[in-house]
Amino acid sequence: MNHRNRVLVTGGAGFLGSHLCERLLAEDSEVLCVDNYFTGSRDNIAAMLSNPNFETLRHDITFPLYVEVDQIYNLGCPASPIHYQFDPVQTTKVSVHGAINMLGLAKRLQAPILQASTSEVYGDPEMHPQTEDYWGNVNPIGLRACYDEGKRCAETLFFDYRRQHGMPIKIARIFNTYGPRMLVDDGRVMSAFMVHALRGEPLTVYGDGGQTRSFCYVDDMIDGLVKLMNTPHEVTGPINLGNTREITILELAGKIIRLTGSKSDIIHKELPKDDPRRRRPDITKAGDILGWVPSTTLETGIEKTIDFFDRLLNTEHISPLSSPGY
Ligand code: NAD
Ligand code: UDP
Ligand code: UDP
Repeated sequence: MNHRNRVLVTGGAGFLGSHLCERLLAEDSEVLCVDNYFTGSRDNIAAMLSNPNFETLRHDITFPLYVEVDQIYNLGCPASPIHYQFDPVQTTKVSVHGAINMLGLAKRLQAPILQASTSEVYGDPEMHPQTEDYWGNVNPIGLRACYDEGKRCAETLFFDYRRQHGMPIKIARIFNTYGPRMLVDDGRVMSAFMVHALRGEPLTVYGDGGQTRSFCYVDDMIDGLVKLMNTPHEVTGPINLGNTREITILELAGKIIRLTGSKSDIIHKELPKDDPRRRRPDITKAGDILGWVPSTTLETGIEKTIDFFDRLLNTEHISPLSSPGY
C-alpha cells in the first residue's frame, strides 16, 4: 500500500524540532513528534495540532519506543548550557540511552536515522575553522562534558550501529543556530541579548566578549538537515552545518542593541569555565555533498528573531519559571 512518508522527530516540540516538523508537513510527510517537554513547549506545535498528518506523543526517549515510521530525526536533548547543566546526568542519559533506543528502533525498522550532533564535539578547538576530521579538544570532566561527551558517545554509537548492522545513519554537526521559538529564558546568547535589549536591561557579556561564534538562521539549518536525511545510503557524515560568518560576542551585543534601537548598556560577567574561545565551521563538505550553503544574512536573521521576541514580550504570557521543568 502506498502511504505518506512517516517521519519521527524526537525533540519535535523544541526550537529546531518544531521548525523541522513544519517543514516535513509542508512536504506532505506524516509527522510523529515525540517530546517530554523538558525544554520544548506545546506553544511551539500548537499550530500543527489541527493537521491530520501531525501526531504528538509525550515520551522520554531514554525509555524504549515502539512505533512504525520510515525516517527518524533524533533531536531530543536540551541544547542551551543552562538547560543541559540543570540535570547533567539526565543530559548524558538522553544523549546515550536516547541514542541507543532510537538506533534500536531504526534497526528494527531498517529506517534511516539522523542524529542532531553538535559543534561541541570539537570542544574548545585548537584547529580553526573546524573541519569534520578534527577530533576535538573536550574536557571530559568539566561542566559542559555531560553534553559534549554525551554527543560524542552518540556519534560513536551511530557509527558502531552502521559498522555492525549496516544501518543508514546520518550525522549532522550543528553549529550555533538561532531564530524564532527560542525560549525567552533559554540563556543562549542570541535569545538572552535580544530579550535584554528589548526590555531595556543590560546585556551581559561573559568575559571580555572576544570569544567568537558563527550563527546560522533556523530556516537554513532545517534545509541542511532535510537535505542530509535524503542522501543515499553511503552518505553518513559527519557533516558540519552552520554559517561561516564569525563574530565576537561583544560585536554581537552592539549589533543587537543597534538593531533593536535599545538604550541598554553592556555589562561584563565572569566567563563560564571551558567556554570555547572561537568557533566557525568549515562547510566545504556540506557544499560538495549536499549542495548546501546558508543564505540568510546575520542581519536578516537577527531582525526576524527580534521581531519574534518583540511580539512575544508584548503580547504573550511569559512563564514565571526561570528553570526548565517537565
Ligand atoms: P531545544 O532545547 O529547544 O529542543 C530540545 C527538545 O528535546 C525539547 O523539545 C525538549 O523538551 C526535548 N527533549 C529533551 N529531553 C528529552 C527526552 N529525554 N525525551 C524526549 N524529548 C526530550 O533545543 P534545540 O536548539 O531545538 O536543539 C535540538 C537538537 O539540536 C538538540 O539535540 C541539540 O543538541 C542539537 N543542536 C542544536 C544547536 C542549536 O544551536 N540550536 C546546536 C547544536 C546542536
Ligand atoms: N528499542 C526500541 N524500539 C524498538 C527496538 C528497540 O526502543 O523498536 C530499544 C530497546 O529498548 C533496546 C535498544 O533499543 O534496548 C537497542 O536495541 P538493539 O536491538 O540494538 O539492542 P538489544 O535489544 O539487543 O539490546
Ligand atoms: N554568552 C554571553 N552572555 C550571555 C549568554 C552567552 O556572553 O548572556 C556567551 C557565552 O559565554 C559564549 C557565547 O556567548 O561564549 C555563546 O553562548 P551560548 O550559550 O549561546 O552557546 P555556546 O557557548 O554553547 O556556543
